[in-house]
Amino acid sequence: EERIITSEMRVEDAEIEGSLRPRTFEEYIGQEKAKEKLSIFIQAAKSRKESLDHVLLYGPPGLGKTTLASIISNEMGSSLRITSGPAIERPGDLAALLTNLNTGDVLFIDEIHRLSRSVEEILYPAMEDFALDIMIGKGPSARSIRLDLPKFTLVGATTRAGLLTSPLRDRFGVICRLEMYDTQELKTIIKRSAKILGIGIDEQGANELALRSRGTPRIANRLLKRVRDYAQVKASGFIDCNVANDGLNMLEVDKMGLDSIDRKMLMTIINKFAGGPVGIDTLAYSIGEESHTIEDVYEPYLLQIGYINRTPRGRVVSKLAYDYFKIPYNN
Ligand code: ADP
Repeated sequence: EERIITSEMRVEDAEIEGSLRPRTFEEYIGQEKAKEKLSIFIQAAKSRKESLDHVLLYGPPGLGKTTLASIISNEMGSSLRITSGPAIERPGDLAALLTNLNTGDVLFIDEIHRLSRSVEEILYPAMEDFALDIMIGKGPSARSIRLDLPKFTLVGATTRAGLLTSPLRDRFGVICRLEMYDTQELKTIIKRSAKILGIGIDEQGANELALRSRGTPRIANRLLKRVRDYAQVKASGFIDCNVANDGLNMLEVDKMGLDSIDRKMLMTIINKFAGGPVGIDTLAYSIGEESHTIEDVYEPYLLQIGYINRTPRGRVVSKLAYDYFKIPYNN
């Protein structure tokens, strides 16, 4: 099923994300805590003429981790190399990447929790000592030699910090959690994007889009693009409150930014499990989804708005969600 409000990257996002990506901290809206922390460390590293300490960014997809990595490399005046955990299949792949870096470069590894064990072990001395231990030969004559690497900065991204092994997590000097954006911040992002893309939109129109963007800039930009199409075909092309509303209703994104999958998940917990608690695996099985997809993609926003609570015995649907469905709450 096509899901318009997924926070994961979709093909349709690629064409606009490049042009909309902020290039400096000033253009990067919100995330004040992460920005402050990073600016201080960057300034300090620059004044000592050192490379920046390794940075771990975590939070749901679409909140700006890749963007932040590119801003870090801009601010450091160095180059950025982008790769991902699943793309680095063998230790040799990582060794090749590392030996091609220049001093001060930023290596961004998305989904860093998905590195294989053997690749991860190459990363430990690389992060700690800027060294690569290579085994030469096989059997009794095998020996290991150590290669020096340029002093680089690793920026790792993951959805949840808990997914990393502790030896890997411990090697990051800076750990930043990215938060969901509030309506005001999303409005600012939407107006900025509209300006870059040459889309006419007013305050109320931007507000309607912001309210349904699930705290996520990627979704905000995608909804803007889709509603522009709607506005051009069904209205004058300008996005005001009514046009935004009608366009979003056509996309079946409701007032809270929920779609049919969210509603199905909530209603399943309410109807089949008496509102919970229900274990994540049982829930995943009941709605035919993978449990990690629920945890990384569907659930963060529902937790954020308080429709679901996490308990030691599983997920529980809150009174807020019952009210949303207009179902009496007796739990
Ligand atoms: P992630 O790597 O966390 O999945 P990205 O960095 O790819 O997310 O961000 C997705 C899109 O959202 C980017 O193309 C960018 O245009 C927009 N975006 C993300 N964070 C911000 C922000 N703080 N301010 C403005 N736009 C943002």
